[in-house]
Amino acid sequence: MDKYLYTCDYCAKTYVPKRRYKQRFCSNSCRVNSHKRKNKLSPAKPDAGLKAPTEKPHKEGISMAGIGNATIANIVTEVGKSLLIKEEDKPVTKAEFQRLADKLGQRYILIKNMDARADGAPAYFDTTLQEIVHLKFLPPWK
Ligand SMILES: [Zn+2]
Repeated sequence: MDKYLYTCDYCAKTYVPKRRYKQRFCSNSCRVNSHKRKNKLSPAKPDAGLKAPTEKPHKEGISMAGIGNATIANIVTEVGKSLLIKEEDKPVTKAEFQRLADKLGQRYILIKNMDARADGAPAYFDTTLQEIVHLKFLPPWK
């Protein structure tokens, strides 16, 4: 069994990577330190911090394999645009609402022009049931 020894990009120590191919540093602190050093060396880098880190765990529904960050950025932009258009233009149908909510990965949408229930729970549109529900606490987005 070969062990695939890697050399840390920061401290140059050799180590056995936990995740092959992606890992460039022997430890989290080396990774962080390397980024800090990089930022110091080139502080004017325009897009630093805008791009999603490539090592981020995958979100459900989107396969990162073969999809670049640029593509995902485009999708997010498109969703944002269509939301804005819908809000200004015309009443949103339930189907459109559901579609947009699905894209955003969001099930409950706060209804601003509806009173809260007597116990204070605000009204939400449940895009899955397509019903208005009152929730005191939102479940975490799936
Ligand atoms: Zn290291």
